[in-house]
Amino acid sequence: MDLTPINEVLGLASSAVGLTGKATSTIAAIKGLFEAGKTPDNSEASKLLNDLATELTMANMTNVQLSQALKTLSREMLRQDEFEREKARYALTQTREGDVVFKLKEDMANGQPVHFICPVCLNRDHLISFLQGNGDYRRCQTNNNHVFQFTDTPLPQSSGSDFY
Ligand SMILES: [Zn+2]
Repeated sequence: MDLTPINEVLGLASSAVGLTGKATSTIAAIKGLFEAGKTPDNSEASKLLNDLATELTMANMTNVQLSQALKTLSREMLRQDEFEREKARYALTQTREGDVVFKLKEDMANGQPVHFICPVCLNRDHLISFLQGNGDYRRCQTNNNHVFQFTDTPLPQSSGSDFY
């Protein structure tokens, strides 16, 4: 699968940790100002408190982003799993006219009627899309341009001898 989202999440996680570290050192600096026997420099203290607020806000925003990214990633992984399970129920097969489609495996039908699905939608969009129709051509339910030839029935001959 695509590893970009995982790398993005790891990047976000590292920067969240980095921000926490920075906030920790700002807190230490603030504490240092208030050590026993010292008269704190109020303008310096005020600046550091402001810095800390900004750092915490940024860390918080990063955490919200991180949590959203983790949820998206987890959903995407489940979806991918679900798709792989569904895909495993189908086998690549060739129609009598040489078109390649996917067919439901009989031993994995789970009570469903044996049917065909569109190979374009499956491979390109990770989508299970049924082929419909029973004539020579069957059409993808998702995209009308995905048409597959199953058989080649000769056109009925007009029975000219019946006419005069
Ligand atoms: Zn299709």
